[in-house]
Amino acid sequence: MKRKVAILGATGTVGQRFIQLLQRHPWFEISVLAASERSAGRKYHEACNWILESEMPDDISEMTVMDTSVKSVEKAGNVDIVFSSLPAEVAGPVEEEFAKKYPVFSKASAHRLEKDVPLMIPEVNADHLALIPIQKRTRSWEGFISTDPNCSTIQLAITLKPLMKFNLKKVVVSTMQAVSGAGYPGVASMDIIDNVVPYISNEEKKMESETLKILGNFDGVKVCSPNIAISASCSRVNVKDGHLECVFVELETNPSIREVKEAFENFRGEPQELKLPSAPENPIIVRNELNRPQPRFDRDAGGGMSIVVGRIRRDSVLTIKYICLGHNTVRGAAGAALLSAELAHKKGYV
Ligand code: NAP
Repeated sequence: MKRKVAILGATGTVGQRFIQLLQRHPWFEISVLAASERSAGRKYHEACNWILESEMPDDISEMTVMDTSVKSVEKAGNVDIVFSSLPAEVAGPVEEEFAKKYPVFSKASAHRLEKDVPLMIPEVNADHLALIPIQKRTRSWEGFISTDPNCSTIQLAITLKPLMKFNLKKVVVSTMQAVSGAGYPGVASMDIIDNVVPYISNEEKKMESETLKILGNFDGVKVCSPNIAISASCSRVNVKDGHLECVFVELETNPSIREVKEAFENFRGEPQELKLPSAPENPIIVRNELNRPQPRFDRDAGGGMSIVVGRIRRDSVLTIKYICLGHNTVRGAAGAALLSAELAHKKGYV
């Protein structure tokens, strides 16, 4: 028996990716699609401007889109799990209503920094799922909210985790982020063609604060952030999918380039041990060419779930610098929530 899934925000950029990744999923199947009042009551193919290269699945195309109230969603079908890719400004109260009864896996920022809400990257902080029973108890909910980080934060944090054994002290990151990260229709073409926009609202703050929670130590009650200084600078570039980041780190134990490369290559987490359906074989793939990673060539590595790292070299100000690339709507969004749900399911939280 597969678990029935409702997708909130199903017509959007991330919602479409959820639909694509859930096709033929071994554990989960789509039961309800929901979006704004603009889409509610219409067939999915009428409501949605499909922007993925793969075809819209036939059965999905004929489903009627519901509004995002619990009552409407329950009327449309059975639900065991809710995936939310709603805009942050609407996600807060909607997700809370669902969490009273259902496990909610959210891509929105609304609840990410709340103390009793896990902010998950399954390879990095699988133990933070233990916040779920605490959250359920404090809020008297049958369900819960589990969140995933911002897309640019996910790929950064995955690469920082294996560096923590070298006593990571400082991180400086400068991003080149794809337009699909802004949703649909996102950034106006007149703003981004032939251009770079050196500002993404709230992105730098999210990268700095979320990374510290993800890398934090769960002491059985709460997550305690490590003593790491992080500074981010974020830009939007004329690329469809795939965020590229230049990362500079200070590592107190001063490892060699070879040791850093091996730490990236050998990095594995619980999703790999448990062989979760969406887990890439290698969370981090290291490229040795001088001109990689590149969004067009590397964003689909590991089915879009691997982070590709290259140009690992000494830094004359801090210790080491490297480039990393991740697919923002797969590993940075729908694929991340799916992996979190698989981990929670496997560990008995769902
Ligand atoms: P998007 O393309 O703009 O899609 C937004 C979705 O939310 C659509 O389905 C839309 O439905 C629905 N929606 C909008 N207003 C609503 C309302 N008032 N009530 C109910 N539903 C409403 O955005 P996106 O890029 O998919 O992003 C979704 C969320 O994921 C955001 O919180 C974003 O920050 C986060 N996220 C995005 C990415 C990325 O790479 N894009 C990565 C990580 C996290 P209609 O079609 O009916 O308007």
